[in-house]
Amino acid sequence: MQSAQALALSELRNIRENREAELERRRAELRARSDEYATIENDLRRAGNRLLRSILGGERDFDKIKNFIQNKQRAKAAVLKNLGLPEDYLDEKYNCGICRDTGFDDNGKKCRCLKELTAKYIIQNSNMTEVMKEQTFENFDFSLFSPKPDAKGRAPLDIARSAYNKAEKFADSIDDGKNILLMGGVGTGKTYLSSCIGNRALALKKTVYYETAYKLCELLESVRFGNDGDEKTEQAQSVKKYAEDADLLIIDDLGTEFLTQFTAAALFDLFSARLNRRLATVISTNISFSAMDERYSQRMTSRILGEYMIISMPEGDLRRKKYE
Ligand SMILES: [Zn+2]
Repeated sequence: MQSAQALALSELRNIRENREAELERRRAELRARSDEYATIENDLRRAGNRLLRSILGGERDFDKIKNFIQNKQRAKAAVLKNLGLPEDYLDEKYNCGICRDTGFDDNGKKCRCLKELTAKYIIQNSNMTEVMKEQTFENFDFSLFSPKPDAKGRAPLDIARSAYNKAEKFADSIDDGKNILLMGGVGTGKTYLSSCIGNRALALKKTVYYETAYKLCELLESVRFGNDGDEKTEQAQSVKKYAEDADLLIIDDLGTEFLTQFTAAALFDLFSARLNRRLATVISTNISFSAMDERYSQRMTSRILGEYMIISMPEGDLRRKKYE
């Protein structure tokens, strides 16, 4: 996966190339339709060269050449009119007049259009689905949680509030490089809260990458066991790099992946590398600490326990509750 700005610049390049191709098509069409136009185009090209030589050679005949060009341009406009074409038929039309679709203004500063396009690609690169993009802190529905204390004496609503507050604080300071382990059973809202964090980080212009542990391990395997130069492998390599470098990595449902010695080691490497670089990671899981210990190396479990803030979701399946 290319960086968001590289994708934005390549979209701008496409816009420029398409416009140039369309203009060239129009010129060819006019040359075919009108001999007069073809002659004028020729004259203008030669006069342009002469004008350049004149400027370089002390502006001899400068005004004469300029007059000649203006006359030819008027003649060209007349040809367009006779053919029933609009007078701006051969003009360059830019999507963005500030940077003429180059992405940079006359002072070499990034244009607003480039920033907007880059933001669009940052969001696309996040791999979050359309449904997930609606799952925000603002849309969080506390009415799904009971205010009545459970058997252990804690109200699900209080647990949800606490989880929400910690998650929001975390999302607002992604650059601190902290990490979260979201724990809870199926349907307790772990993915929802992960999405809230991801969306807030995107709103703060951070790069985000979301993936299920299952798919992430598949990806790590295709990088390891794929053939170099193969298109699918190259794609996997660039996505892996994006997952390594993103300001925020969200790994959903740790424990559901197909674990081999290789994937266990590769996951540990990914977690460690991000910890060392102080890049924020969110992991959600519905397995217990002891199950983690059994499933992964003790080294990995203790590193996660030591460096991740644990957030527990209230028990109870919210998806079921929604339909009751
Ligand atoms: Zn622009």
